[in-house]
Amino acid sequence: MSPSRPPSVDALARSLADSGLPHPLCVEVARQAISEGRIDEAPAMARQRSRRMLMPVINATGTLLHTNLGRAPVEIHSPARYANIELDLASGQRGSRQATVGESVALSCGAESALIVNNCASALMLVMAALAHGRGAAVSRGELVEIGGAFRVPDVMRQSGAQLVEVGTTNRTRLADFERALSATDVALVLSVHQSNYSITGFAEQTSVAELATLGRPVVADIGSGLLDASCPWLDGPPPEWLEGEPAARQTLEAGADLVIFSGDKLLGGPQAGIIAGRADLVAACGRHPLARALRPGGLVLEALQATTLSYLRRKGREIPFWRMASEPVESLLSRAESIAESVGPSVAAIHTDAVPGGGTLPGRTIPSAGIRYEGDLVGRLRHRDLPIIARIDAGVTVCDLRSVNPADDAELVRGLADAVGGAA
Ligand SMILES: *Cc1c(COP(=O)(O)O)cnc(C)c1O
Repeated sequence: MSPSRPPSVDALARSLADSGLPHPLCVEVARQAISEGRIDEAPAMARQRSRRMLMPVINATGTLLHTNLGRAPVEIHSPARYANIELDLASGQRGSRQATVGESVALSCGAESALIVNNCASALMLVMAALAHGRGAAVSRGELVEIGGAFRVPDVMRQSGAQLVEVGTTNRTRLADFERALSATDVALVLSVHQSNYSITGFAEQTSVAELATLGRPVVADIGSGLLDASCPWLDGPPPEWLEGEPAARQTLEAGADLVIFSGDKLLGGPQAGIIAGRADLVAACGRHPLARALRPGGLVLEALQATTLSYLRRKGREIPFWRMASEPVESLLSRAESIAESVGPSVAAIHTDAVPGGGTLPGRTIPSAGIRYEGDLVGRLRHRDLPIIARIDAGVTVCDLRSVNPADDAELVRGLADAVGGAA
């Protein structure tokens, strides 16, 4: 082949317009293709680039809070309208973006007051900076955890300017250990961190929040998952079995915590947010700290969190997508699976499965579920669709779990499976 002159970046970029990418992104792809000598592959590279965009997907993994898929799904219907985010409509005066949402969040877990920030990591950072800067914060050595994504409790504390006072040992920390630490150092508060994503079994003992509350220092409990109330009054039936032992905001406050902090997008089922709830004076001190401005959420998040919280206050768990999925009876999932399997054909079958709460909560717990099984690997084909379907594969068997699929997407799942099975045949 005779060496021909490479096309100009601009010409190659223009030839990639079909990818649907805006011109500046086509230019980036073209530049890369030329510099790597992969001009023929430029259209495929553009397609790949467009598949890296954020887009809606169908979660058929059965992991209800899937970290790679944005944890809890939220419903947002928003025409381009303004919102009274810092305007008090009753008085016409400037309002606080936090006050009304904070009030309903506080009510929903029995707290005096609540403040919303970007996520639970920022909630911990703000609480430590506002209440323990330059002083000690006592934590059990068994709770100096890494939650994932480089969220390590000791690192967050260091960044906040609080001095970590380690107490006890990895497997056992008693009240007397805390008492000794408090008498030896200047300790501003005691922090209790829920071991969300792991458990210590065997010769183990941690100090309960009720015991910590006797120490005479503010107790801050990072409960992580955002379960508001262990009795789940927003559900029609009793609390589900898979929730057992998960700390809840209301009961942790009742046990004596002065503040609880938790995520908005785990068991709370709302948008990504961090909530600081509890004693009004401590919440106010957090709100006055300069970091509060840097960590404040935007209007979209506050609106979505308000909608979620109002559903809790109305005791309508089925309005919250996470709880609707989590509490769906397994028979109804199985009957959806049977009708999907019937539409797709004999190569797939309806089966019982195990779904999981996910989101780094409740390790090892499963929720009985149902789905579709195919003997073979359809995962890539399902993922490459315009509306991607994310399935799981187990020992060469593809499983689409219906507990995490909105019933409105069942027809799309039928089309996706039929196409993928057809392509695999
Ligand atoms: C998940 C979790 C966090 C981190 O929450 P983000 O909202 O992701 O920042 C912190 N603490 C605990 C105990 C958690 O479970």
